[in-house]
Amino acid sequence: MSIFDSKYRDKHVSARIARAFFRISQAIKNMLWDECKLKSLTPAQIQTLLFLRYIRPDSATVNTLARSLSSTPATASGVLDALQKKSLILRKRKESDRRVVFLSLTYKGMNTIQKLEGLGYELQKIIEELTVEEQEVLLSALSKIERLLREKEYLLIAETCLTCCYFRLNIHLGAEKPHYCKLFNINLGEDEISRECPEYSELQM
Ligand code: SF4
Repeated sequence: MSIFDSKYRDKHVSARIARAFFRISQAIKNMLWDECKLKSLTPAQIQTLLFLRYIRPDSATVNTLARSLSSTPATASGVLDALQKKSLILRKRKESDRRVVFLSLTYKGMNTIQKLEGLGYELQKIIEELTVEEQEVLLSALSKIERLLREKEYLLIAETCLTCCYFRLNIHLGAEKPHYCKLFNINLGEDEISRECPEYSELQM
C-alpha cells in the first residue's frame, strides 16, 4: 500500500492526488533552485527573507521562523547566521524580555527581497492556463488541504487580518489605529493589518 505503487494509485484517487503533490513540490523546488543560483542564496535563506518581509514585526522571532520553515530553532538560527554574515538581516533583543530576539531585514535585505518579487510568477503563469472555474475549484480544495495541514501542525499559515476571526474592522473610526484584534487585545493601524500574522484564524462563514 503506497502512493508510489501504480496499482494502488489506480484504485485510489486520493493516492493519485498525493503523488501529484509530490511531483508539484519537486517542480517548485526546481524553480526555487533556479532563482537561488541567480541570487547566491539557498531556498531556506530566500524563505527567511520573504518571511521577514511580510510577517508582523512582533512575530518575527526565531521560533516563529522555525515553524514557518518547518525546522528546529537551531536550524533556523543557522540560516539567520548565514544571512547576518551577508548583512541581510538584523537581530535585536526585546527590552522587556532579553530572551526574546526580534528579527528584521536590513536595507540591503530589503533590496534583495525586491529583486525576488518575480518569484512564483512562473508558477502563476502555469496556473493561468486553467480556466477561471478550474482555478476557483482548485483554490477551494487547496485552501481546505492547507487548513487540515495546519490543524495537524505540518504548516504555519500566516495571513493578514481582514479575514481573521479575531479581527474587528474600524471600531475606532477616525483614530490612528481604527481596527482591533480580539486575540491580542490591541488596536491596529492600516500598516499592521497588511502584515502576515502566524496566529491568524480564518473566519468561518
Ligand atoms: S490574530 Fe488575527 S486579527 Fe489579530 S493580529 Fe493576527 S491576523 Fe490580525
